[in-house]
Amino acid sequence: MTTAPGSSPTPSLDFPARVVVDLDAIARNVGALAGHAPSAQVMAVVKADAYGHGLVPSARAALAGGATWLGAAQVPEALALRAAGITPSDARVLTWLYAPGAPLDAALEADVDVSVHAAWALDEVVAAARATGRTARVHLKVDTGLGRNGLTPADLADLLPAARQAEADGAVRLVGVWSHLAFADDPGNPTVLHQAEVFDDAVRLVEAAGAGLEVRHLANSAATLTAPRMHYDLVRPGIAVYGISPVPQVSDSVAYGLVPAMTFEAELANVKRVGAGHGVSYAHRYTTAQDTMLGVVPVGYADGVPRHASGDLPERPGGPVLVGGTADELGSDGAARVLRVAGRVCMDQLVLDLGPWATEQAGDVVTLFGAGTGLARGGAPTAQDWADAAGTIAYEIVTRVGTRVPRVYVDGTKEVR
Ligand SMILES: *Cc1c(COP(=O)(O)O)cnc(C)c1O
Repeated sequence: MTTAPGSSPTPSLDFPARVVVDLDAIARNVGALAGHAPSAQVMAVVKADAYGHGLVPSARAALAGGATWLGAAQVPEALALRAAGITPSDARVLTWLYAPGAPLDAALEADVDVSVHAAWALDEVVAAARATGRTARVHLKVDTGLGRNGLTPADLADLLPAARQAEADGAVRLVGVWSHLAFADDPGNPTVLHQAEVFDDAVRLVEAAGAGLEVRHLANSAATLTAPRMHYDLVRPGIAVYGISPVPQVSDSVAYGLVPAMTFEAELANVKRVGAGHGVSYAHRYTTAQDTMLGVVPVGYADGVPRHASGDLPERPGGPVLVGGTADELGSDGAARVLRVAGRVCMDQLVLDLGPWATEQAGDVVTLFGAGTGLARGGAPTAQDWADAAGTIAYEIVTRVGTRVPRVYVDGTKEVR
């Protein structure tokens, strides 16, 4: 069996595919991000199961790499971090996305910082503080122009007297003001600077009301990497923690010193010879041009392989798969090569046209994406290459890998759990 880069030393035989997460890469990516924002602390954003990489192992790796904060969108994600033993001395944890009735009591008991994005949210935080006897550490979320969650500047001004009263009563401490950018991935867009100016006004308003803020924060991955003006006291990178460029049209991961942490690999479930003119997969959207070998890869859209990356549109090639060797062997005289999905991606499987001289056998490992340098550099395919093939962003590729695909954790190449 050929072994792909980053592949598990002891692949599980229970399922013929896996996601291998390199925790060392996550730690080093956080170090690289801290280098891009030397004056700020780093909050590693670990929402959505750490962008599909596994919440707790990824969070611990990010802390090992120098993050001092963890960001979790949903309250249960923040609680899961604490329940796993990540203590307040290990990391501050901020949660920010909740609807009325959220378990804020539990968040305060777990020493989690909470965002307030509406008047009712302040009321619920104050009620949770009273119920638990805790003082809630509150970050006021301001909508500086994204048009999504947060208090408009006018709502912020209206809320401030009640927030300061709650502070005087000992129910809350106003520790942060924060916001999120609409066009961070388009660094020259004039709204970026405009949002920063609105943000500065909001900070001034809160400070003038007497709050002693600890942290002001605005930057996601893109702003961390491209806009020092946005760094303030704390940066909140997500996608870059996992080694993926947030601005692929500007620079790739390699250029930013980031290493993709996730490798998605599978064992071929079947290899067989067919004649020329053979239709492949549903609706025969691909037809063999010659007598050839077909390889069946046992992952499909139920496993997060986007059906939009099918090889069935003449104007858009299917998703790329590394076959026949390692990323390092690409371009040598060996069998390592990158093929495109042939025909439709199905629920559980996809097909590759391995070519007439293929020597691959059932059980050989193929890699959909991993820590390669990407097709544009002549390297092995990345999540970004799959995003390009599917007409989406790499965030969606890594976060959507299905739950039936086992996760294997490694440090470099050594399996850790
Ligand atoms: C997801 C998220 C981030 C991280 O964004 P990336 O683009 O992945 O770096 C930061 N802040 C907020 C509010 C988010 O929702």
